[in-house]
Amino acid sequence: MVHIRTRPWRLSLIIAEPPIHLTAVFWAAKYFVTKGKPLEADSLIAGFSAMDKYQRKDVLYNLWDQWLAGSDKGRAAKAIFPNIRERLRCKWVDPTSDTIRILSGHGPFGTYLYDRTLSQHPNCLTDGLRDDPNNVVFDCFDVPDAMYDIRRRVESRSLSDAVRSESDWPILSGAFRALVGSREVASLRLRVSVRHEMVAYSLIHGQLYPLGIGESIHTELCPAS
Ligand SMILES: [Zn+2]
Repeated sequence: MVHIRTRPWRLSLIIAEPPIHLTAVFWAAKYFVTKGKPLEADSLIAGFSAMDKYQRKDVLYNLWDQWLAGSDKGRAAKAIFPNIRERLRCKWVDPTSDTIRILSGHGPFGTYLYDRTLSQHPNCLTDGLRDDPNNVVFDCFDVPDAMYDIRRRVESRSLSDAVRSESDWPILSGAFRALVGSREVASLRLRVSVRHEMVAYSLIHGQLYPLGIGESIHTELCPAS
C-alpha cells in the first residue's frame, strides 16, 4: 500500500500546485511516452504523446480548472483567483501559512469558527461586522496598522484586487502575518477543539494536514506552556 501525503484539495489553487491526482496522471503519461508507449499515454490524456510541453501545460491547467469548477468548496479562494492561470499570474503571492489562512478563509475568523461550532456567532466581537477575511482586511477596527495602509491603497476594497498588486504585496503579506498573530486564540476550549477538528478532518477525508500548516496552527493555538 502506498501512502501519499496530500493536502486539503482547496489549497491547490492558493499554493499553485496541481492536485496530486492530476500530477499522478501526468507523471504516468510522461512515463509511457519515455518508454515508447504512446497509446498508453494517450489513453490517460487524449493526444498526450503528440503534444509539446506548452500544449501539455495547457491541458494540465484546463483539467485543473475543470476540477476546481466542479466543486462547490473553496469559494473564498475561487473568489480571489477565478482560475489557475490567474493564480499563476500573481507569482508574487507566496503561500505562507498566514497567506493561506487569509485567502482560503480557513483561519482565525468568526465565520470559519462559527461554521465549525467553535464560536457562538460569526461576527466580530469588536464591531459586530461579519468576520471573514475580506471584512477583516477592509472594515474591522481591530487590525494591525499595516492593514490601514492597505486600505488607503486599494480603492475597490476587494481582497482579489489587493493581491493583484505586486508592489503592494509585501505590505499586504506583512499585514496578513500581523493579523493572524494578533488573533491568536488563547481559550483552552478552542485549543482543544481545533486540535480535535484537525484530527477529525484527517480521518474523514483520509488526508493528512500539510505539515507546515498543521504545525503552525497547532503552535499558535497551543503555545508551549
Ligand atoms: Zn472587527
